[in-house]
Amino acid sequence: MHKASTIREDGLYHSFCGLVSVGWLYQKIKDSFFLILGTHTCAHLLQNTLGVMIFARPRFAVSLLEEADLSSSQPDISAQIEEIKREHHPSVIFLLSSCTPEVMKVEFEGLAASVSTPEVPVLFVPASGLDYTFSQSEDSVLQALIPFCPPAPPEDKRVVFLGSVNDAIADDFSLEAARLGIPVAGFLPASHFHELPPIGPGTIIAPLQPYLHKTATQLRNERGCTVLSSLFPFGPDGTRRFWEDLAAQFGMKVDLSDREAAAWERIKRHTDLLRGKKIFFASDTLMELPLARFLKACGAEVVECSTPYINRRFHAAELAALDGVRLVEQANFHRQLRTIAETKPDLIISNIITTNPLVGQGVVAKWGTEYCFLPIHGWAGVNALVTSFTRALERHSKLDPLGS
Ligand code: SF4
Repeated sequence: MHKASTIREDGLYHSFCGLVSVGWLYQKIKDSFFLILGTHTCAHLLQNTLGVMIFARPRFAVSLLEEADLSSSQPDISAQIEEIKREHHPSVIFLLSSCTPEVMKVEFEGLAASVSTPEVPVLFVPASGLDYTFSQSEDSVLQALIPFCPPAPPEDKRVVFLGSVNDAIADDFSLEAARLGIPVAGFLPASHFHELPPIGPGTIIAPLQPYLHKTATQLRNERGCTVLSSLFPFGPDGTRRFWEDLAAQFGMKVDLSDREAAAWERIKRHTDLLRGKKIFFASDTLMELPLARFLKACGAEVVECSTPYINRRFHAAELAALDGVRLVEQANFHRQLRTIAETKPDLIISNIITTNPLVGQGVVAKWGTEYCFLPIHGWAGVNALVTSFTRALERHSKLDPLGS
């Protein structure tokens, strides 16, 4: 397989804290509770980014560390854990680390173990903004769940879809698998803690999200399962490859060229708009590779695709499909500004720090973080995916009809 060459620069690994992943995970795992051991900074971040959920009695909270707590060797969270159990009756509690206690060397594994019970496990999840980019803390949550997936015997050959997607998209994947005759063991994460799928040497792990390589690698190493190497199921091209490669794992040869052609036909008005447009990725969610590959298939010119981290094995198929595109890891923002000035992209997918300043300079820029929340997977997600790009372009052309 031919691989695209990549450039590594010296920029930020991440710019947006991974703690925010609780915003989608607590809704996905419906009997979970997320407790963050953090400071006022973490609480402000969550209140600002997830503020609207505060009124909906969310199943997440910040156990606030004050200066006095940091002088003791180990904080005591037993009272909070009891209150959470009393008030919310969760089946599992995730204990998320944050920057300050990590710097202070709080021993999180021991802390979680000290309040964990067989009835309600408390699982440590490394998630601080020091180590993980925005989407990677989901990877940490799923790793913590692996020991609770029942073992499956070698003859149990079924697929487990890896990555949290909303219930409508999950239903779409279950239905498509049934249509193709692919047996499904479940999803990781499942909607409830006690519904985690059995995983063993016969399991095919099919990753739905491009930022879960730690979980996929651990499952391969510890359970001996096969991790599907394919495109991620974004767009008609990625979705077709994903299902054809998955079917091949079960000894089936399926041809979804008609489904792909029909999906492209349905979004033709949008691909006509994207064709020839110059797109620049300066975002930091680890979703950049499949999104750039989809835009390339739409006929857009991907001027640069930068991303915090590329895993040569987990991202192999996407890298092959991006041959010829300039791929940059940990891009230097000042160099990017010069490239943007030279190449004048029509649309920049950027991160939380840089989107507003770029928009302020008259550039059409879109916040890449939202791709972690959008239902853009599989056949059902094609329209949401393509319109997320064209809406930004169309909105700008309506506001600026002279294109100045
Ligand atoms: Fe900020 Fe670190 Fe707390 Fe995240 S974990 S909100 S980066 S202090």
